[in-house]
Amino acid sequence: MTIPQDHKPCIDLHCHTTASDGALAPGDLVLRAVSQGVSHLAITDHDTIQGLAQARGVAGEHGLVLVNGIELSCVWRSQTIHIVGLDFDHTDPALLAALEEQHDNRWRRARLIADKLSKLRVDGLLEKATAQAGDDVPGRPHFARVLIDEGVVTRMDQAFKRYLGAGKPGDVKACWPELAEVVSWIERAGGISVLAHPRKYRMTATKLRELVSDFRRAGGRGIEVSVSGQSSGDLGFVAELARKEGLLASQGSDFHFPGAPWCELGRIPKMPDGLEPVWHYFRQPVTAVS
Ligand code: MN
Ligand code: MN
Ligand code: MN
Repeated sequence: MTIPQDHKPCIDLHCHTTASDGALAPGDLVLRAVSQGVSHLAITDHDTIQGLAQARGVAGEHGLVLVNGIELSCVWRSQTIHIVGLDFDHTDPALLAALEEQHDNRWRRARLIADKLSKLRVDGLLEKATAQAGDDVPGRPHFARVLIDEGVVTRMDQAFKRYLGAGKPGDVKACWPELAEVVSWIERAGGISVLAHPRKYRMTATKLRELVSDFRRAGGRGIEVSVSGQSSGDLGFVAELARKEGLLASQGSDFHFPGAPWCELGRIPKMPDGLEPVWHYFRQPVTAVS
């Protein structure tokens, strides 16, 4: 199966594989994208580019254009924010060092969560949570699943209510870098940083504008406008924000696993008019040939 070159591009710049919290291995994700008619894909795993090499091989065989991608967690005013990095140089030494550091931080946190829950006397808790996490670093949901398997609790919400939620022993805060820092990692590696799913943070319009202006001051250039499952009201709001702030518009499904009809690779609401698509600024710009 190859994508005809004279076809209108179908662009998805946000999705996950087993390299983070997605269900499909990178190669399988690329195959699914091809079967969905996606022509240009960015895999944006959380804080890692481990999946890209495998994906690149499969993409090459099927004529799908793979754009380098990542989704980085960071903090802004003590809130966790996600920044998508696109089309960066994946061999950039400073970026690779920063990702390594981020990875170590996540493992430190995982070990700390296991320590804090040691009173529960679950044998091999960290190892079991690691197995739950696949290729990812275990986080609180993975620990919760082990507690269910081991019969400590019966449900996910119980695990959080008793052991992992706010103020409980296993509630170890993630120590993410600052917003400005992760923006600079991407921009210095020749990429474009994009504020991910802006309506997901449940901020007031005023606060969101402040976030956007800090993001721009840090060198951020894009914002996700078309996101799967987003209401048309939110779509219009973010489109207007992008126009006013002169931000490049990005789009993506945020696909994690098959079987969720509201979230499929390449199935993204139409981008509103009057916006500057981020893919016009890729090192190999994507232009419509329709
Ligand atoms: Mn995720
Ligand atoms: Mn996200
Ligand atoms: Mn995501």
